Order: sequence, then structure tokens, then C-alpha cells
Amino acid sequence: MQLRAFGLLCAVDAEDVHMWDLHGGLRNVGKRIFVVGGVAGGAGAAVKARRVSEDADIVVLERTPYVSWANCGLPYYIGGIIRQRDDLFVVTPERLASRFNIDVRTRHEVLAIDRARRRVSVRNLETGDAWEEPYDALILATGSEPARPPIRGLEGCSRVFTLVSMEDGDRLRGFLDERKPTNAVVIGGGFIGLEAADALLERGLDVTLVEMMDQLLPPVDREMAEPLAAHLRDKGARVLLGEKVAAVTQRGGAGGDGAGASGLQLELASGDTVACDFVVSAAGVTPRLDLARQAGLAIGRAGGVVVNDRMQTSDPSIYAAGDICEIKHLVTGKPVRVPLAGPANKQARVAGANAAGGNMRYAGSLGTMVVKVGDLSIAKTGLSEREASSEGIPHYVSYTHSQHHAGYYPGARMMTIKLVADRFTGRLLGAQIVGGAGVDKRIDVIATAIQARMTVEDLEDLDLSYAPPYSSAKDPVNVAGFVAANIHRGEVDTIEPDDLMDLLEREEIQLVDVRTPGERNRLGAIPGSRLMPVDELRARVGELDPRKKTVVYCAVGYRSYLAYKILKQRGFENVSHLAGGFDAWKMFGGKR
Ligand code: FAD
Repeated sequence: MQLRAFGLLCAVDAEDVHMWDLHGGLRNVGKRIFVVGGVAGGAGAAVKARRVSEDADIVVLERTPYVSWANCGLPYYIGGIIRQRDDLFVVTPERLASRFNIDVRTRHEVLAIDRARRRVSVRNLETGDAWEEPYDALILATGSEPARPPIRGLEGCSRVFTLVSMEDGDRLRGFLDERKPTNAVVIGGGFIGLEAADALLERGLDVTLVEMMDQLLPPVDREMAEPLAAHLRDKGARVLLGEKVAAVTQRGGAGGDGAGASGLQLELASGDTVACDFVVSAAGVTPRLDLARQAGLAIGRAGGVVVNDRMQTSDPSIYAAGDICEIKHLVTGKPVRVPLAGPANKQARVAGANAAGGNMRYAGSLGTMVVKVGDLSIAKTGLSEREASSEGIPHYVSYTHSQHHAGYYPGARMMTIKLVADRFTGRLLGAQIVGGAGVDKRIDVIATAIQARMTVEDLEDLDLSYAPPYSSAKDPVNVAGFVAANIHRGEVDTIEPDDLMDLLEREEIQLVDVRTPGERNRLGAIPGSRLMPVDELRARVGELDPRKKTVVYCAVGYRSYLAYKILKQRGFENVSHLAGGFDAWKMFGGKR
């Protein structure tokens, strides 16, 4: 291709078809940009491409009847919180045509890519006609499809639903409205399974959630997911952890389903059975890589399409965005797949801009996520403790329990923050938060801090907004920073609940509960501990042996920190306090 600049000719990359326009700006000349997939990655890339180039021909090919719709809203539509189906459609094909001059072809599937000839084979799914289209730049945003767990009888059973496409949503919503089922089994405790279970509970169904791992929401550490399971059980759900569905059969006879079927019988790997009216299979999603594979694009070790920071695949004229890509993790620098809408939208802007001749870069992702289940929210950014360990990064963790706004202002809710920080530098590696309100705001502050490569000491100093309805003068993020920074500077020795459990099995130690007698009676205590309220500690310190290994604990870790300081200054050499207190002990499933 050639660049014409007032008569000058020079060679440029095949994809960079530019021309100086009369006003002196660089512009594209009729570049053909084809976008495969019309949701977060595809639609986002198409409109960005248009903002960069008025001259490009931009075509979006989408095999379903829907583009630019909110799959993230699907569980809330199922649950009835989003009442109008139309509300899920963010931008219509008509609007994409009228405002952005984008040629949107729904019910069109791209069958194959011929990279050498820069052509795609397309089929109109309404007419069955197939033909080829030339492109200058191609953007792949083919997204994810539901994972298919190897469960006998699951495939093809009409009472088994997935929750990924709009068609899935319509099928499930139609079934719920028409058949009025009363009980469901959700397979999978990831975020889609959790949101599905919550939606069905919201509709008043009996719900059993089956998760093969020993915790819900596997990306977070086990103890942080513990309150989720407890909350779902409080809401009436049965939560089966460490359990698998082995087979699905129609109740009373033939496998699969059929006319007049009244329900399903599920065989579990443990040998138990569960009867239900229907199943939602939410066992994860897998990237839809058939086209990328057929085109011979590089697929990386994280199982996604390899892209550079311009979202270019191994073929420079093919870009990719969204769930199919593997991208850089902002803490480890390693390739990861992050099938979430935030990253997909940001990648889409970069892919769209660059396909149209721009030069944008995508930094990478922390995998920041937040999920709401009933009244509880749980969020994560960066690395969990488990991930930091498996990456071999020396680290420490802190737990803090704070109210989301001033305790004296009505409606304060607790949240637990777990920070993971680099053992040597104090650099923030990750955070997880579970709580009743204000979780989203705190995780986003910490995500920003991680991306800015801040340390736990920087969190101490963050100047965050405060008024009683919103926060406390020491925001939960600051408090998390204070505690983690104390650990980092060696100002306090902490012991984590699981380490205390091990220690108690190995050794006889002095375990001191510094809460009040009322709290101990009401909430229980760690077996073997003796009560010595922090306000009596100075007077009663003589009752303790300063030569013995001593662990102090309270409800959340603040009073035990004070107790630690008192004991340390009174000659107790071997003392530590329980990180996160009795609340964290319970999250670890500690005995009471
Ligand atoms: P998709 O949205 O999957 O779109 C891909 C499109 O490509 C599909 O419409 C498909 O039909 C089309 N396509 C595929 N192959 C072809 C072909 N050969 N020809 C033509 N068209 C093709 N993320 C969050 O961050 N927060 C949330 O709360 C959240 N909630 C979610 C809830 C649910 C129920 C689901 C399913 C996902 C949720 N996500 C959430 C994830 C988020 O929706 C995805 O990460 C995002 O939609 C990915 O966008 P994408 O464009 O890569 O893929």
C-alpha cells in the first residue's frame, strides 16, 4: 500500500492506508474493517473505529439476532429486578447505523478466515446463503460459550439451562414464567452461578447450589468466600461444596427429557441424589476460539488468542478483543484470561482505534471483579493469597474488619478486607473484600493503588473523602493500610487463623481472649483461651507467664493489637496477635 501526501509516495504497512486530507490531517481512505461478534468487544471496537475514522467501511457480523446487549444484566432480568427485556439492549443495530454509520448484520456468521487473501467467509443464517467478503482489518470478538461439564444426561436435556446468551435468558425466563417451577439446582459456584442462584432465590424458588471445589467463587481465598456460603444458606439455599453432579435423568424414567416430564433427578458423585424441576448449568465459560484456530492465529499458554498491547494478534491485520484474548496481568506480567466486561470494553477501544489507523495501547488487567449475592458483596483485585503463593512471591496478608461508614450513622455495615502485599517491599499485590455495603468503592480504590504500584504504606496516607453517611475519618482502606503497614514495618507480630490452628495442635501456648465477658458468652471463643479483657490487662498481667508463647485475640484485631503492645512492653518476647480476630477465625472455619 502507499501513502500519498501531496504527490509524495512512500511505502507503509499494508494496514495503514492513510492520506493527508485537504485540512492537513491524516485520514483513512475507505479501509474495510470487519468485526466478528457484536457485543462488548465487537460493538465497542466498531464504534471506536468510527470515532477514529469517518472514512472506513465498518461492518459488524453477529450470528445471533442481538448486538450490544447487556449479558451482565441477564441474572437480574431472570430475577425480575430488571423488568423490561428491552432494557438489556444498550444500543440497537439501527442506532449503530444512524449515529455511527456502521453496517450491522445480525444473523450472519463468519465461517472461516483466509488470511492470505484477506477474506472472510460469511453465511446469512436466515437465507443460508454464503459468500466471501474482503477486509483490510479484521477484529475478532467472538467471546465465550458455556463450559460443558462431563455430566451424563446434561447435553440436550430441555430442562437444563445455561445463562450466557440472550437466547439462554429468554429460554430460562420463559420457562420460569410459564411452568412456574419451584426448585432448581445450579451447577457451579462461580460468579454466574452465584448470580443465577441469587436470582432464583429472589423469585422465591428453592435452590441447591453444587460446587465441586471446597469453596464458592474459586478466584478468592477460601476464608473470604466463607461468608458467601453462609449468606446463601441464611437465604434458604442448600450449598453443597466439594460435590459434583455425575448424572441428570428425567424423574421416573427415560434419560434426558421429553414431553410431560415433571422434573429431574440428579446423581451426585457422593452417591446422594437431588430432585429438582430444572438445572442451571453455570460451570464456567470457555473462549470461542474456533475461528482463531482455523485462521492459524497464535493461541497462548493461558488458552487465549495472543495479542500485543495494540490488541494485534499474530497476524498484524487481525485484532482481537474481549473474552477470547489472553492479556497481561498487571501484577505478575504473565498472560492471563480475564473474561469480564470491563477489560473487554477497554480492549475494544484499543482494537477499534488501531484497526482504523490509530495507535492506542492496552495496559493489562488486575482481574478486578465484584459480585452481589443477596445483601452481600464480594470483590477481588490483583492476586489472592493462594495465587501469590503459587507464583512464588514472598508475601504477607492482613485482615481488617471495618464499618462501611461511621458507626453512629444509621445503617453501618461491616466489611472484611484482606490485603496481600510483597513481603520485602510492601507493594500491594492484591485485595479481597466481603461485606454488606461500600465494598465496590473500596476495591476500586485499592485496584487503582495496585495499578499505580503503591505500597501498603501509601494506603495509610490516601486522602479519601469522608462524611458520616459515606465513610469514617479513617476509611476502611486506610485502616487496612495501617494494619498492613504495621506488619510491614515489624511493629506487630501477627498470626493468621490457619497458622494458629496448626500451632494449637502442636504446642501448648498462652491464648488470651481480650474481649469482654459478654462478647465471649454471646459469640463463643477459641477453645483453650482464657478471658482477660484488654481494659483489665495492665492490672492482671501478672497472671500470665512472660516466658511462654502468647497469642492474644479480640473480635476483629484492634484490641488485640493494643494488648500486644501492652504485653510487648512488659517483657513478653514471644507474643503475637490474631490477624482479623475471632471474626477471621470463624471465616477459616475455626472451632468455637
Ligand atoms: P461476548 O459478549 O460473548 O460476545 C461475543 C459475540 O460474538 C456473541 O454475541 C456471539 O454470538 C458472536 N460470535 C461468536 N462467533 C461468531 C461468528 N463466527 N460469527 C458471528 N458472530 C459470532 N462481566 C463483568 O465484568 N461484570 C459482570 O457483572 C458480568 N456479568 C455477567 C453475567 C453473565 C450472565 C455473563 C454471561 C457474563 C457476565 N460478564 C460480566 C462477562 C462479560 O459479559 C463478558 O466478559 C463480555 O461480554 C465479553 O465480551 P465479548 O465481546 O468478548 O464476548
